[in-house]
Amino acid sequence: MIYLDNAATTKTAPEVVEAMLPYFTEYYGNASSIYKLGSESKKATIQARESIAKTLGAEPNEIYFTAGGSESDNWALKATYEAYQNKGKHIITSRIEHHAILHTCEYLEKQGAEITYLDVDEDGLVDLDQLRKSIRPDTILISIMYANNEIGTIQPVKEIGEIAAEHGILFHTDAVQAYGQLPVSVEELHIDMLSASGHKLNGPKGIGFLYINKKVRIRSFVHGGQQERGRRAGTENVPGIVGLAAAAERAFRIMEDKTKKEIGLRDYLISRIQKEIPYAKLNGHPTKRLPNNINFSFEFIEGESMLIMLDMKGICASSGSACTSGSLDPSHVLLAIGLPHEKAHGSLRLTLSEENTKEEMDIVADELKQIVDRLRGMSPLWEDFVKKQK
Ligand SMILES: *Cc1c(COP(=O)(O)O)cnc(C)c1O
Repeated sequence: MIYLDNAATTKTAPEVVEAMLPYFTEYYGNASSIYKLGSESKKATIQARESIAKTLGAEPNEIYFTAGGSESDNWALKATYEAYQNKGKHIITSRIEHHAILHTCEYLEKQGAEITYLDVDEDGLVDLDQLRKSIRPDTILISIMYANNEIGTIQPVKEIGEIAAEHGILFHTDAVQAYGQLPVSVEELHIDMLSASGHKLNGPKGIGFLYINKKVRIRSFVHGGQQERGRRAGTENVPGIVGLAAAAERAFRIMEDKTKKEIGLRDYLISRIQKEIPYAKLNGHPTKRLPNNINFSFEFIEGESMLIMLDMKGICASSGSACTSGSLDPSHVLLAIGLPHEKAHGSLRLTLSEENTKEEMDIVADELKQIVDRLRGMSPLWEDFVKKQK
């Protein structure tokens, strides 16, 4: 099997599993309990919070554990909207956010929020001038993702943070793809809130965090006990928290080597596809992109068919259309960068890990060439197109 869907989820690293295991079997106490067994759990969450805070240049009490990226995104938007209504109801985001942001924005619009969705250029970058022009006296929040999960484009987060700070507006970033792949300093980048998720960085599923700067007036998200300083109730997911911290430590430890290796493999496969498969377009920014992201549109091809044929060859990948309840919706991200529907349908996302090899890249390039040939061979549109070229 060749796994090339690391933007969807990653393999839990063996050292992460090992770090978690004792918190299932031995130290299963409730972190809120007084006795020793409980205090072992508590100690572990304190350490985890400290080590995660360190990766961001933040303070431990600015880290709030959640059930993952979606919850963190929901919390940041809904709680800000609730707490800052006296200032206004206007939020700025982009068209290419993850659905955890976009669907939360739709929900808030029903509650009376006004949302500006910034356009992106053909590489997926937001326009900073449009951002400046969109700011109003009643703007309470700018939420722009750090790096895109489909096309890998990395946004000018520092500039966005500076613009937000200049205007006294809170800045939240969905860093679920970036955290663990890129260095992040919340202070340098003027980030007030940041979402991250364990399973995107070789950690466990169902655990993540929201960084909330201490100056932010934040509201409780889950009401109940006093966990997470009374802001997010529920008995701590101690094994998850320990696993998340172990994954973060690992990611930052290996980042330099991992990045170098992935960029090498990424650019090798990109150049093979560009040289050997005609009418293939690389989506996303050529250089401002995640080290592990490849996204191509192949003309006259259905992404879903490509995925099925790749799967038969043992290759796990993803396409630009989410097959939801039988209807094939093209990706909102690919439409936002200006792809017409048919090209958005024919897209393929390959997201690497440091465990991939050059041999695997060669297998994928060879298989892909054959698959594209076969699928185009079955397409009447392709036949017409070829005839017209002659
Ligand atoms: C995966 C992802 C999420 C959702 O994270 P979960 O932990 O799966 O809820 C949010 N934003 C981005 C950019 C993602 O890639």
